Amino acid sequence: METKEAYRALGLDHSASDAELKATWRKLVATWHPDRNPAAEAVQRMQAINKAYQHIRLVREGKLAGDAPADSTDSTYGADSPQPEAPAHGSAHPQADAQADPQAHTHRPPHVRKVRLSLEEACLGCTRTVRGQFTQTCSTCVGTGQRVLATACPTCRGKGAVRKPVLFGWSWTEEACPDCSGDGRQRAPCDVCDSTGTQTVSYRRRVRFPAGTREGHVLSVPAARHGDLEVDLELAIEIEPHPLFTLDDNGVLRCEMPVNGYAWMTGRWVDVPTPDGLQHMRLTRDALVYRLAGKGFPATPNGPRGDFMVRVAPVFPPLDDPQQADLLDQLIASSTQAAQADDTQPLGQWARRLKSWQPG
Ligand SMILES: [Zn+2]
Ligand SMILES: [Zn+2]
Repeated sequence: METKEAYRALGLDHSASDAELKATWRKLVATWHPDRNPAAEAVQRMQAINKAYQHIRLVREGKLAGDAPADSTDSTYGADSPQPEAPAHGSAHPQADAQADPQAHTHRPPHVRKVRLSLEEACLGCTRTVRGQFTQTCSTCVGTGQRVLATACPTCRGKGAVRKPVLFGWSWTEEACPDCSGDGRQRAPCDVCDSTGTQTVSYRRRVRFPAGTREGHVLSVPAARHGDLEVDLELAIEIEPHPLFTLDDNGVLRCEMPVNGYAWMTGRWVDVPTPDGLQHMRLTRDALVYRLAGKGFPATPNGPRGDFMVRVAPVFPPLDDPQQADLLDQLIASSTQAAQADDTQPLGQWARRLKSWQPG
């Protein structure tokens, strides 16, 4: 790779400062890292970005012959880039720069993944083990799949250029050595990543999810070391649809539940499902909606819980069984008799008005 191509790959030119170079590289990594960018070209772009960055770094640290000798053989160089690379770049702070230089693992973008919680886990909070793996640019070869050695490239004997015959072998021209991209240094396959440029890293983290975690929340888990890599996790929360409950924004949980109409009429107790489990609740025939205060969902993470609202739908089963019909007849007869005797009740008043009525 030629230095000017490396700059072009990063969208910079020779005048970029070390800080600009580093910032641009990080921005491009954040955009193109295959963990974040699903585009098919992401892996290739990432490798090209890392290769360009590594090349410029080596030149600036003085570990790689700069453009002067290599590019002087390139006839197009002078025309395209009238300003040769300032030698000060490489020697300004070579040591400090090498030390401050981000290793790929300390500045890689966080690993983003989904975590699904049940509504109860999200409501009450939970601790879960999050496991997974991700692919990471090889930190040894920065994604190039090759290590650059100190020894001279055997193909071009360190010259960075090879001769190519032209005019049926009567003459020759020089072009960049294909085996060392023109820098004259020997390459060896990267044994850390088997020349793939990437490493697969497995992780396993115990994570505490606060009570009141919502769909769409992103939980950042601080960096931890995995092998020789340091990784931030970002967990995007998904809440599983609940078979019984719906959740309002203000934390009110709602549940609709059919109840036996006779039990509802007669004020019986029923079991109501809540995030904490089943809870006894007394029905009353005057009410279809019941509020269980503080049994809902936290409106804010770790905040107080909202209310739990139960709407009951009384269902009157058919009384097909003769014994049930008999019992109901007895109930109607006895309750009608008692009601008609009471003048203060509508049935008693009605009975009196009916008696005084003389049909024509
Ligand atoms: Zn590697
Ligand atoms: Zn070579």
